[in-house]
Amino acid sequence: MSERHLLVLDAGTTSTRAMLYAPDGARIAVAQADLTQYYPQPGWVEHDAAEIWTRTLDCARQMVDRAGGADRIAAIGITNQRETVVAWDRQSGDPLGRAIVWQDRRTADRCAALREAGHEPLVQQRTGLILDPYFSATKMRWMIDHRPDVAAAGDRLAFGTVESWLIWKLTGGLHISDASNASRTQLLALDGEGWDADLCALFDVPSTALPAIVDNAGRFGSTLPDLLGGAIAICGLAGDQQAATIGQGCLAPGAVKATLGTGAFVLASVGQDLPSSTHRLLGTVVCQLDGRRHYALEGSIFVAGSLIQWLRDSLGLIEKAAHSDAIARSVPDNGGVFMLPALSGLGAPHWRPEASGIISGLTHGTGRAHIVRAALESMAHQVHDLAAAFAADGAPWRMLRIDGGMSANDWIAQDMADILDLPVERPDDVETTARGAAMLAGVGCGLFPTLEAAMQAMLSQSTSFAPAMDDADRQRRLSGWRALLRHDA
Ligand code: ADP
Repeated sequence: MSERHLLVLDAGTTSTRAMLYAPDGARIAVAQADLTQYYPQPGWVEHDAAEIWTRTLDCARQMVDRAGGADRIAAIGITNQRETVVAWDRQSGDPLGRAIVWQDRRTADRCAALREAGHEPLVQQRTGLILDPYFSATKMRWMIDHRPDVAAAGDRLAFGTVESWLIWKLTGGLHISDASNASRTQLLALDGEGWDADLCALFDVPSTALPAIVDNAGRFGSTLPDLLGGAIAICGLAGDQQAATIGQGCLAPGAVKATLGTGAFVLASVGQDLPSSTHRLLGTVVCQLDGRRHYALEGSIFVAGSLIQWLRDSLGLIEKAAHSDAIARSVPDNGGVFMLPALSGLGAPHWRPEASGIISGLTHGTGRAHIVRAALESMAHQVHDLAAAFAADGAPWRMLRIDGGMSANDWIAQDMADILDLPVERPDDVETTARGAAMLAGVGCGLFPTLEAAMQAMLSQSTSFAPAMDDADRQRRLSGWRALLRHDA
C-alpha cells in the first residue's frame, strides 16, 4: 500500500486552494478557486466568509478524490491570510456579515485615537505590533459597534481569523486559533498564554467570543465524516507568512525569508527570545510547539508585485509580468532613472502612509526599458532598507531566501543579491506557504518526530544567486535611492 498524503488548505486573500503533498515533499496536485473581493467604500475590503468556506471545501473534496479517499490522507494542514476577522453565530454556524480583510483601513481613526491617548508603547511592548488598522482587534470592535446582529448575538458571538472559521466549519463547532494567527490579533501578548485581559479591555473586545489558543502542530480535531467522505485529523495550522518561514526552513535564529507577492513580507527568526524592535519592525510568533514559542522580527513592504501589475494594467508598458525580466536586461543600466514605488504609502521601516510614488531622472534618452528596470530595481532597494533596519535591531542577515510569484524573476533575484551584497536562495518550488503547513501537519500527526525532521524530509531544492556587482555601481544605486527617499520626506 502506498504512503498516505498530507492535505493542505491554503485560504489566501485572492484565492483559496487545496494541495496534496507526499511525505517526501513532492506536490501531487492542486485545486484552486478565486475569491470575490468586495470594496464597499474607499479603504474598505471585505470577503464573504460563506464563500471562503464553500470554495475551500470544494477544493478539498477534489484533492480527497485525487488521493483516493479520506483514508488516504494522513492529516490536514491549514494556512491562511492573516488578521482578517470573521464573526459568526455559534448556534447557526452562519457568518454575521462579511469578513473584514487585513487590507481594510476603516479603523484608522480608532487607531489614531488610541495612539493619541498614549497607548501605543504598551501595545507595542506586549504584542510586538504597532497601532494600525491592519491588525484584528479594532476590526472586531468595529463589527460590534456597527452591526446590530453582532452586538445582539451575546454569548452566541464567535470571532476568529480565517483558520479558526474553517476549523469551526470542518469540525462542526471546535473554536480554536493557533499561536501564530493569534499573535496578529493584537490581543495576545508575545509571551502570554491566553488572551491578554488588559488588551481585551483596551480594544473593548469580549474574550468570551474568542477561540482557545493552541500549538501550531498537534491533533486538534477531526473533520465531520460527511464533509470529505470520512473523518480526517486536522494537525497543522499557521498564518501564511509564518507557514512560508517554516516552508523555507528558516526556523533557526538568523535565518531570513522574503515572500515577494502582491506585497513583500520579510521574517527573520530570532529563536525563543522575545523579539523587540526600535526601528519600527514587528515582533511576531512564528510557531508554538509543545507550548514553546519561536519568534521572528517582521518587516512588511506594501507594494511589490502590485507595481508590476501597475506597469502592465495602468501604464501598459509591459504585456505580461514575466516579460519584465527581458526588458530590464535589454538596457545596460537604469539610465539615471529611479522609482519610489509608494503607490499605497511606504511600509516598514519607513511607515509613511501618506507617501506617494516618484519617477526621477527622466530625459529624452529615457525609454520604456529604463522605467521597467527602475521599477524592478526598487524591489532590491526596499529590501535593502529592511536589511538595514533588521541589522540596527541586532538581527543582521547573512543570506536571504526568497519565494512568492515575483521571485520567479531571475533578474530581480540577482539584483537583490547584488544590492544586499549577500547570497540569495530561491527554492525550486516557490509555494513555500503550503509546504510549511504540510510540514506542521506532518509533525502534528506523528509522521515526523520534530519540525526539523519534517523540514529535512520536505524542503525543496534551491537555486543560489551570488552577489556580483562592483562596489562603485552598488554605491551609485544606493545613493540614487536615498535621494528619492529624501525628496519624498
Ligand atoms: P499573492 O500570493 O500576493 O497573490 P503571488 O505570490 O501569486 O501573489 O505573486 C503574484 C505577483 O507577482 C503579482 O503581483 C505579479 O505582478 C508578480 N509577478 C509574477 N510573475 C512575475 C515575474 N516574472 N516578474 C515580476 N513580477 C511577477
